[in-house]
Amino acid sequence: MKEENPVLFVIFGGSGDLAHRKLYPALFQLFQKGQLDQHFAVIGTARRPWTHEYFRETVQSNLHEGTAEQQAAFAAHFYYQSHDVQDAAHYVILKKLIDTLDQKYQLQGNRIFYMAMAPALFGTIAQYLRSEDLLSHDGFSRLIIEKPFGHDYASAKELNDAIVSTFDRDQVFRIDHYLGKEMVQALPYLRFANQMINASWNHEYIDNVQITLAESLGVEERGGYYETAGALRDMVQNHIMQVIAMLTFPEPETLCDQTIEAAREQVFTHLHQLSEDEVKAKFVRGQYGPSADGQQIGYRQEEKINPQSNVETFVAGELELDLPQWQGVPFYVRTGKRLLEKKTRIDIVFKKATSNLFGGESLAAPVLTIEVEPESGFIFSINGKQVGTGTQAVLHSLKYQLTDADQQLVPDAYERLLLEVVRGHQSNFVQWQDMAGAWHFVDKIRQAWEECDCPDFPNYTSGSMGPKAADDLLAKTGRHWIYQG
Ligand code: NAD
Repeated sequence: MKEENPVLFVIFGGSGDLAHRKLYPALFQLFQKGQLDQHFAVIGTARRPWTHEYFRETVQSNLHEGTAEQQAAFAAHFYYQSHDVQDAAHYVILKKLIDTLDQKYQLQGNRIFYMAMAPALFGTIAQYLRSEDLLSHDGFSRLIIEKPFGHDYASAKELNDAIVSTFDRDQVFRIDHYLGKEMVQALPYLRFANQMINASWNHEYIDNVQITLAESLGVEERGGYYETAGALRDMVQNHIMQVIAMLTFPEPETLCDQTIEAAREQVFTHLHQLSEDEVKAKFVRGQYGPSADGQQIGYRQEEKINPQSNVETFVAGELELDLPQWQGVPFYVRTGKRLLEKKTRIDIVFKKATSNLFGGESLAAPVLTIEVEPESGFIFSINGKQVGTGTQAVLHSLKYQLTDADQQLVPDAYERLLLEVVRGHQSNFVQWQDMAGAWHFVDKIRQAWEECDCPDFPNYTSGSMGPKAADDLLAKTGRHWIYQG
């Protein structure tokens, strides 16, 4: 059955990279699937004086699927409005276009405002949307916000205060695209749809959890932004924290937004906050140098990077949750740029068997690996009998991978999350309490790092798996990274 979703998207930053590379192709997928049909329109706003026609051409040039007719039919719903977000008069003109399109496409007053531009302007836009009467009177008004949401707790709170003074809690959708990934969304199914996994998902059975978000690319053209962020803010505060929440939130009674949000909040309020000494012992940072073959330059040689920069492009660390279920279970996290390959995976390392029958201590630990990308699936490595006449126990792998046909059914993260905003579902978006908890955690690390000497950067080679210190972090407890690249 066709899904009718009458809605107007207003994209602030409509001429930008995010809009063209991610948002328009995602909307096109929804259009192709009939989830956006005749009753939708998109207004792109930015300062440049573009025409509607030129805007449509730029939109179409970023669509890499579908026929030319399908692309043109989609792009015909796009309109451009030259607009300085700091000028109140421009909102009056924008409102006229919104009202015209609302009537033309019978959008029932439904509006989604997407902030695809610098966060410093989010509060200003939100306030003008209210003061200049651009919010809907008869449909819904929703606001989508991109990262980075602040650069520490104080700036995030200031931003949040500016937004929630204009929009209600259930109107604000803070995007973390990791929450839109197929295998991240699959985690609650794996946990709660299997009693044997659910029953063993705790400190009695799990020795440690390892999360790797490895990127093979360097900073590319984002050097200016990256110098103000670093890997801790860019990846740990948001994506890694959200993956931890999906892995650990207590079983909710229902799947409704509020119960899931409350369950996830439990995780963020029970993140063990590190002391300065704990940061020194449990978190390491790195910065990439040139590759061994000299083909790749180091971070300090990249465009818009200070040649003496001490910004980290790699972080590894150990977190704990102050929740009885997870008492004493280390969560080892690792993320970095210019690592060996692009890979997102989670390794749940179970405790070794206590039975002495098949080798006792020499038995390997079972591991449940969740491959998020580029492969998607699970690998369960469990002990079994060595085939043949031997008597040893060895690890066997039970493997499930999405097929190429399955992959065709997987929506891009932005496509999935945009549809959830259209439907008004909040559970895969970041709530303010979660973000606040994550910022408090990350701020402690940042402050401790500021107090001590920076390691001698660069300290890892492009194309490696990061600095040796990241391996030492686990080695000192007799553990090792399951994923070695
Ligand atoms: P961009 O620089 O390519 O685009 C910024 C847009 O904002 C442009 O359209 C520009 O014209 C517009 N703009 C700037 N000042 C304006 C003003 N005063 N009035 C009206 N328009 C104005 O940036 P981007 O890469 O598209 O990123 C946008 C936001 O999304 C940023 O907050 C970024 O951190 C975030 N983000 C981007 C990506 C990505 O892949 N590009 C990924 C995640 C998050």
